[in-house]
Amino acid sequence: MFESLSDRLSGVFDRLTKQGALSEDDVKTALREVRVALLEADVSLPVARDFVRAVQDKATGQAVTKSVTPGQQVVKIVHDELVAVLTGAEDPGKLKIDNAPAPILMVGLQGGGKTTTTGKLAKRLKERENKRVLMASLDVYRPAAMHQLEVLGGQIGVDVLPIVEGQKPVDIAKRAKQQATMGGYDVYLLDTAGRLQIDEVLMQEVEDVSKAVNPRETLLVVDGLTGQVAVEVAEEFDAKVGISGVVLTRMDGDGRGGAALSMRAVTGKPIRFVGVGEKLDALETFEPDRIAGRILGMGDIVALVEKAQETIEAEQAEKMMRRMAKGQFSMNDLKSQFEQMIKMGGMENVMGMLPGMGKAAKGLTQAGLDDKMLRRHIALINSMTKHERRNPQILQASRKKRIAAGAGMEVADLNKLLKMHRQMADMMKKLGKMGKGGMLKNAMK
Ligand code: GDP
Repeated sequence: MFESLSDRLSGVFDRLTKQGALSEDDVKTALREVRVALLEADVSLPVARDFVRAVQDKATGQAVTKSVTPGQQVVKIVHDELVAVLTGAEDPGKLKIDNAPAPILMVGLQGGGKTTTTGKLAKRLKERENKRVLMASLDVYRPAAMHQLEVLGGQIGVDVLPIVEGQKPVDIAKRAKQQATMGGYDVYLLDTAGRLQIDEVLMQEVEDVSKAVNPRETLLVVDGLTGQVAVEVAEEFDAKVGISGVVLTRMDGDGRGGAALSMRAVTGKPIRFVGVGEKLDALETFEPDRIAGRILGMGDIVALVEKAQETIEAEQAEKMMRRMAKGQFSMNDLKSQFEQMIKMGGMENVMGMLPGMGKAAKGLTQAGLDDKMLRRHIALINSMTKHERRNPQILQASRKKRIAAGAGMEVADLNKLLKMHRQMADMMKKLGKMGKGGMLKNAMK
């Protein structure tokens, strides 16, 4: 799946992974190609643009992890961002079906795989969750579709609501509800009629059915190969009837992954399942990590970078511990503290984890140490020379002016940072001493 995108990105990153150092221009070049690849994969322009921008922001200024190449690092950043965009529901495979009988409305255009998916889902609920399932076709316009569902039911051993000729969709839905209630079913799946295109009559009908049964889930089934069209269909259905999730079908073929990415970014609706074949067990729970891995086709590199990062973090923590024990705490140490804090979700969180630091943490938080502030502090430190970072006590008026200007801030901002550094250095000295007793070591694990 997503072969073209994967191939394309592989080409780009192959070149990058062979380079020793990565300049900003290199990042830009690579990301330009990522953008083209995304567009070719049918990701919509605004989504591709946002995606690339987010990656660029993250890649720029991020130190390259030791023992991986800059190119590998970029792969990891692109991967993480893909996962971030693709992640929707916490547990996409878990449908809201606790109050029996739970109605699930299946909607979508004709030919998207709606009926097949209804069968696949029924089979899954029956076999994996041990549910008693009833299926009903509301496609009164196509008797063949109704029979198709009957045949599917026979194949998977799931009951299908008997066909009553001449009945309207809403009445069939009501009859399904009644039968599900009386028959002690856990779930009933309503396979609504599709059209070749969205039209008012279809929408009204789905809306009426929805009102009649008040579904716990309304799943839109769309052909993943139709890319941008799938996204538009999702937006329309969501606006009219409200969908709770999306099933992307035909993700087994030479699929372009763009639909998944745009679908998430544009509609904000979680992708719950992907159809990966015509067989009735060819339905998989949507896994952002796996899809991102497939889009990139570079899972090995991602794992490698993760491992390297873990090792480095452990090394850094140990190094800092040793320095702290000696009473050393430079601006560089402060900077890496800030970076860690941003990563770990803010100052209060981090300080709160250190014994006896709760109160200090509160004071620092009141001082406005949020993510934004931390980033401003980092910018100031970046504006210092190596010598200044190691010896902040040498900072006099002219140096201060230069540093503040270099970071686009005021000297007053720098003074605040310096004061904080002194406080932190004091605190770290104390902690360092405690660290000898092993206390801090445990706290920092
Ligand atoms: P409906 O009109 O939306 O109900 O579509 P159907 O369920 O009748 O499916 C149309 C065609 O798509 C059938 O031939 C299905 O076997 C096929 N199909 C459905 N889902 C998938 C899928 O995930 N992968 C593949 N390869 N084919 C699928």
